[in-house]
Amino acid sequence: MARIAVVGAGMGGLAFAAAMRNSRHEVTVYEQASELVELGAGISLWANGTRLFDEMGIADAMAEQSCETEVAFFRNEDGSVAGSQLLARENWYRNAYGYPYYGAFRTHLQSALLEVVGRERIQLGKQLAGLDESVDEITLRWADGSSNRADLVVGADGIRSVVRQYVSPQAAPVFTGNSAFRGLAKTAELDKLPEPRSFTDWMGDGMHVLNFPVGKNFEYQTIVVFMDGPEKWQHEAWRVPADAESIRAKFHGWHPAVAQLLQHVNLAERWGMFQVSPMQSWHRGRAVLIGDAAHGMMPHHGQGAISSFEDAVALCHVLNDSRISSIAEGLARYQQERKARGEKIQQSSRSLNDCLHLPPGQARTERNAVLNSLDRHFSWLHSYKLGV
Ligand SMILES: Cc1cc2nc3c(=O)[nH]c(=O)nc-3n(C[C@H](O)[C@H](O)[C@H](O)COP(=O)(O)OP(=O)(O)OC[C@H]3O[C@@H](n4cnc5c(N)ncnc54)[C@H](O)[C@@H]3O)c2cc1C
Repeated sequence: MARIAVVGAGMGGLAFAAAMRNSRHEVTVYEQASELVELGAGISLWANGTRLFDEMGIADAMAEQSCETEVAFFRNEDGSVAGSQLLARENWYRNAYGYPYYGAFRTHLQSALLEVVGRERIQLGKQLAGLDESVDEITLRWADGSSNRADLVVGADGIRSVVRQYVSPQAAPVFTGNSAFRGLAKTAELDKLPEPRSFTDWMGDGMHVLNFPVGKNFEYQTIVVFMDGPEKWQHEAWRVPADAESIRAKFHGWHPAVAQLLQHVNLAERWGMFQVSPMQSWHRGRAVLIGDAAHGMMPHHGQGAISSFEDAVALCHVLNDSRISSIAEGLARYQQERKARGEKIQQSSRSLNDCLHLPPGQARTERNAVLNSLDRHFSWLHSYKLGV
């Protein structure tokens, strides 16, 4: 039996602890926050994530609380449809991938995971300051001066990971040159939305607005405004004040549904979008990275949390595999399975940003052909099955 210390009780850390619930290993999760509060309203959960829900013990809870969105629409500024892809309509997505797409509240996902993990396995108020490793074990040093020892540390501590500083000191979050504004609205208050049970990207030059329904009865819409710029992020903070009126003015002349969506977005708070630069290795000695710590990415594929689930379950498989004789062998196998895929999703999310923000012209016409055959272009993403 190994003592496994997970740093971070976010999406990846909780998913790992949930998947490990019946393992012979002893798993403890350490979280810097003094209470678990989930930021952000809704989350898109594609089939490569929902196919793992049984193993994570959350399949029933999520089926009870999420909606199955009907269609993904891509619309121009004036609302005309540039491309579309069936999802639950005609049962297309389940037929194609065997598992559903869900629009869910992040709080529901977090509660479902916490229920499986059990709060007694999570220690709050533990901020990792550093790691020291000897031949036999690894020591976690906490900011409060205390320490714990473990056989393996799983760095699930997000995009500003302290575990990553140990694993790959030169890797860092890099500003992508893009920012976002977020909101949540009751669907009933958005009477101008043409398809409230569908996922819509409203695309313009250098920016787009995304809305998708969440909750069992499609009762809320998650809204995100994505924008190119600023060129540089000269702040320590991830969220900074913005001039709401000048942001709103950029959408002048767009479809009336967009103006209505914007009323529910906090345009006075701009989120910088960062991604983690690729690194040589996701593990060093007795420490390994999962989730945003390993491959923090732009959110356009809706894959950040889901790829942390893929990492979590893959790591769980190698650690529970009796044919794998050492932690070092298990971590090498984990990296072989996950690193190339994580980096591919990262790159694809970056390219999708540019694709959604094209100016009018020939490139848009070519893009729209892709948007109308999305399943062909992105089936590698949604049909993925773990090879370990
Ligand atoms: C606008 C936006 C929309 C998104 N939409 C989607 C979506 O629809 N679908 C999707 O799959 N993904 C989406 N994502 C991405 C997703 O939220 C992240 O990829 C996901 O939360 C990553 O999980 P994680 O566990 O790696 O990190 P996190 O969830 O960030 O968790 C990290 C945890 O570690 C803790 N921690 C950090 N440092 C320390 C420390 N030193 N000591 C102890 N604890 C520490 C933190 O407090 C936190 O609890 C979106 C992201 C953004 C910005």
